[in-house]
Amino acid sequence: MKTWYNKLPRAIDVVPSPNFAIRNFHSSATLSPGRGYRFFMLAQTFIWVRARTLRQFIILHRALLSLILILAFCANCSIKPEPLRYSKDNCSFCKMTLVDDKFGGELVTKKGKVFKFDDIKCMISFLNSSERKAEVYSYELVVDYAHAADEFDLIPASDAFYLQSSELKSPMAGNVAAFKMLEELQDYQKKWNGSAMSWNEVKEVFK
Ligand SMILES: [Zn+2]
Repeated sequence: MKTWYNKLPRAIDVVPSPNFAIRNFHSSATLSPGRGYRFFMLAQTFIWVRARTLRQFIILHRALLSLILILAFCANCSIKPEPLRYSKDNCSFCKMTLVDDKFGGELVTKKGKVFKFDDIKCMISFLNSSERKAEVYSYELVVDYAHAADEFDLIPASDAFYLQSSELKSPMAGNVAAFKMLEELQDYQKKWNGSAMSWNEVKEVFK
């Protein structure tokens, strides 16, 4: 069907090469090289070849950019922690069912894959395993012992305070509890003794 914009010259007649278009329409693009960037370049070339006019190229190109923004937004949305479901979920390291809601942890990879643990000892053993050592995680979380029944009981592992005591009977005998508040750890320490530790020190214990 003939429309008014089809009377305009074809994009390919006006712009000498796709590189020209990339320079002119995407000089501020900050896409990093990778699979997404290769898809973008391929889709852009396809649009360039198919577009009958420069106007069509611009319209399709804006649609492509919108699609990429939506996909990027959705990808980030899917990367989030999940609640630990006791009596249902299994530990990703020892494969036992999660049973004690005062203990446990969770790792979420950059791609949104979630790993759950029944004991901090299992989580650290998993982090140290040869096949996982190079992985980078968006979230490293542990259960707050003092607020285990609360809705938001998972706290960042690196910010938590840890108490190791033989009085703590954790599922896989790591016997380490995590606390969001140092004062709460100290209250339990008065009862049970044991050693207060940082996340790095706990990682050394179970190395
Ligand atoms: Zn385990």
